[in-house]
Amino acid sequence: MPFLSDTLSRVQPSPTIAMTNKAAELKAQGRDIIGLSAGEPDFDTPAHIAEAGRRAIAEGKTRYTAVDGIPELKHAICAKLKRDNGLDYAPAEISVGTGGKQVLYNALMATLNPGDEVIIPAPYWVSYPDMVRLAGGTPVTVACGLDTGFKITPEQLEAAITPATKWFVFNSPSNPTGAGYAWEELAALTEVLLRHPHVWVMTDDMYEHLTFGDFRFCTPAQVEPALKTRTLTVNGVSKAYAMTGWRIGYAAGPEPLIRAMAKVQSQSTSNPSSISQWAAVEALDGPQDFIADNNAVFARRRDLVVEGLNACPGVTCPVPDGAFYVYPDISGCIGRTSAGGTAIETDEDFATALLEEEGVAVVFGAAFGLSPNFRVSYATSDAALSEACVRIRRFCEGLR
Ligand code: PLP
Repeated sequence: MPFLSDTLSRVQPSPTIAMTNKAAELKAQGRDIIGLSAGEPDFDTPAHIAEAGRRAIAEGKTRYTAVDGIPELKHAICAKLKRDNGLDYAPAEISVGTGGKQVLYNALMATLNPGDEVIIPAPYWVSYPDMVRLAGGTPVTVACGLDTGFKITPEQLEAAITPATKWFVFNSPSNPTGAGYAWEELAALTEVLLRHPHVWVMTDDMYEHLTFGDFRFCTPAQVEPALKTRTLTVNGVSKAYAMTGWRIGYAAGPEPLIRAMAKVQSQSTSNPSSISQWAAVEALDGPQDFIADNNAVFARRRDLVVEGLNACPGVTCPVPDGAFYVYPDISGCIGRTSAGGTAIETDEDFATALLEEEGVAVVFGAAFGLSPNFRVSYATSDAALSEACVRIRRFCEGLR
């Protein structure tokens, strides 16, 4: 009898972790490595939010809480959904978990049966397909390339839906591309979904507040209120409030689903950290002005990186609407050989050779389900980004 479960054999070890480990290894050997693979803001948690966490400890708010969140946080989330998205939810329709990741996982665990299909546009956040597999479902990925701005079209969505489809996973702005859906683009998708009442929508709004220029964020239940009864709106404080380590995410949806998710959480992690929940109340209820300040920094870095990458031969880098990633296409680099003698047959070869020869760590596109590309996280200093662009350009110019 094998010791490890069969379920685990359906899940891939994370390729992003493999790249990060390789970068750490080279750094330990004394190499000068620029890391562009981390999916988190490089800002500190704002002082007033950190102070709310300290206050929670000082006031003894350090015990178990209700499994899926303290009432104060659920109220703050309801107020946020009304304020930012025009959505009316009651506290009983809110679930708080240990990061958006746990909330998404709870929802899949609570709803998937063997044979259930989950539509995931690719490129996707690395965890979606493996979470679906862990929960016993079948991921159905739909390739969305540069030609459609890495976005799924209504025709592609329609074609992917079968009687076995349970969820459509939607993520705007996207990790890894930064692509955001405008209201009309999302409306065209919700129109398709209206024709298929058995399909639920899992919208991952994690990068809602990280948007640039004229782009206006919108979410499915807001664009098509008739879908609200079969939509789970997932969000969290990790990215917008620079709180990745605090581990607070949340979701809003129909009460029976929220109760089922709480059941999963009650038998696994139980409540998220009480201290973090109080800090999240302050994040959502407190001043929001620093978000615009942070976005101005991200927008500047985005422009720096897009310009730097488009100057590299063989690389095409579209301008993203949000998040802090770019996802350049490297079709023009495939089939060449690097200055160090590595044959570049795949985007993994490209990323590995770039790390070894120029000391720049990026994540290759295959990890996100669409190749040949790589993901750069520009949540790092302007100086590091400028130097990285110089090195990537040298690497591309050296391809034979
Ligand atoms: N969804 C997306 C698209 C993400 O990029 C991430 C984090 O990288 C998450 C969800 C999970 O965020 P957290 O668990 O930190 O709330």
